[in-house]
Amino acid sequence: MAEHEDVPHVRVAVVGAGFGGLGAAVRLRREGVTDFVVLERADSVGGAWRDNTYPGCACDVPSHLYSFSFAPHPDWPRTFSGQEHIRAYLEHVTDTFRLRPHIRFGSEVKRMAWDAEKLCWAIETSGGNLTADVVVSATGPLSDPRIPDIPGLDSFPGKVFHSARWDHAYDLRGKRVAMVGTGASAIQIVPSIQPDVARLTLFQRTPPWVMPRVDRAISGFERGLHRALPFTAQLRRGLLWGIRELQVQAFTKHPNELGFVEQLAKRNMARAIKDPSLRAKLTPDYRIGCKRILLSSAYYPALARPNVDVVASGLAEVRGSTVVAADGSEAEVDAIIFGTGFHVTDMPIAERVVGADGRTLAEAWKDGMRALRGASAPGFPNWMTIIGPNTGLGNSSMILIIESQLNYMADFVRQLGVLGGRVALDARPSARDAWDDRVQERMKRTVWNTGGCTSWYLDANGRNTTVWPGTTTEFRKVTRRVHLEEYEVLRAPRVPAEQRTPAAEARA
Ligand SMILES: Cc1cc2nc3c(=O)[nH]c(=O)nc-3n(C[C@H](O)[C@H](O)[C@H](O)COP(=O)(O)OP(=O)(O)OC[C@H]3O[C@@H](n4cnc5c(N)ncnc54)[C@H](O)[C@@H]3O)c2cc1C
Repeated sequence: MAEHEDVPHVRVAVVGAGFGGLGAAVRLRREGVTDFVVLERADSVGGAWRDNTYPGCACDVPSHLYSFSFAPHPDWPRTFSGQEHIRAYLEHVTDTFRLRPHIRFGSEVKRMAWDAEKLCWAIETSGGNLTADVVVSATGPLSDPRIPDIPGLDSFPGKVFHSARWDHAYDLRGKRVAMVGTGASAIQIVPSIQPDVARLTLFQRTPPWVMPRVDRAISGFERGLHRALPFTAQLRRGLLWGIRELQVQAFTKHPNELGFVEQLAKRNMARAIKDPSLRAKLTPDYRIGCKRILLSSAYYPALARPNVDVVASGLAEVRGSTVVAADGSEAEVDAIIFGTGFHVTDMPIAERVVGADGRTLAEAWKDGMRALRGASAPGFPNWMTIIGPNTGLGNSSMILIIESQLNYMADFVRQLGVLGGRVALDARPSARDAWDDRVQERMKRTVWNTGGCTSWYLDANGRNTTVWPGTTTEFRKVTRRVHLEEYEVLRAPRVPAEQRTPAAEARA
């Protein structure tokens, strides 16, 4: 957009209406900012919890921790609640905090470009254009599904879909199904569909470590107690959080101490898998924790069923209706389901953000994503991301990280107000580099870098640009406030009185 005098202007444009975007909206309100919009490409809220409707979809962090601290929910039905309950919770948060008037559904951000003269973002969306002083990008690290480039896939005559875009119109009963991938989604899908399908062929490039999932219904008594005495729900949340804060020390500082956890995981497998050759296929050869530890009490029992084949190799080719693994084994199937993850280190949104020097964020990040305190990138003033580089967690609730980033966002907007006038904050490259060096230095000792696996935590260059190498307490501390010395303060040139337009006046 070269000229944008006539398009609507807002103080803050939030992109995405998942946990991150909805949380940002609530937080902005609390800061007294009401001039904001939430741009969402879909037609409802929920993000990952709207898009992932596959059978068995549930959180793998207990619900009382996997929810906003400012919107406690005493009525979680299970310790690990299912997708439909988490989605309903986010709808509830949207209504409780009256966020709907701010949300523009059907507004996919196609491009946002920094206007260095006017110090604002010019945003093009499928639902119309606008400008904003500040952009909060909450498009989610796991929102754009990745399907690998498999030769012959285009001419497969059967059904193909990704776990995050489940086709409920397709009846899997009695079908021969190939499941590609053994990540967090796949291990929930496999036991859910195994009883119904004729044959399930599981393509496993790397076996995951799987621990039992202690999932149970939360009793009426417990729920009543949490409703009557809210501090009991707080206490429950605190315990869940505290345990994970202690666990993370082993991941980040003492990976060698994780050996005994491997023994527990092996015992979990041995209980269900009696066939030694299958056990050998399913036993990881890397340190537990290097890839996300998966929780399921139903996965191994499902793999032991006679209608399941585990192929210890990735899918390499599709020939007609035959799927061929890298090790040469073949199976004829009616449907292929990809549980192959998301564009995490190559987020599509990065192609659409154009900074001060005309470069996209994807170009700025071509050697790997990096951002000051997981939020700001030099050359992209007044733009920040929620769940940015090195903010992911291996073992705890991402909502803790999101809420810390919202503290940072709130202070960012506050500081702009304190500075006054038309002003922008641009992260200094030196501050970003110092931050990144500190993160990468700490990363060296962690299980994610030393555990001997390749995972989606690492980018194409083998750098870990996704995980936070510390506790959530530490993250909260380092994102409590914006350190102004880490930013360059940009001010708009003064416009002579005769050139001022009413729209520009209003904005100033
Ligand atoms: C199946 C699954 C299970 C998970 N389980 C857990 C768990 O148990 N514990 C945990 O901590 N984390 C879990 N996660 C991680 C999860 O991604 C985060 O916890 C959290 O939901 C992220 O919220 P978000 O708002 O940042 O992103 P999302 O929920 O992905 O929301 C992003 C939103 O941005 C919108 N969007 C994207 N691009 C654009 C665009 N260009 N224009 C407009 N809108 C756009 C999307 O439509 C979406 O609504 C899970 C993820 C998945 C996929």
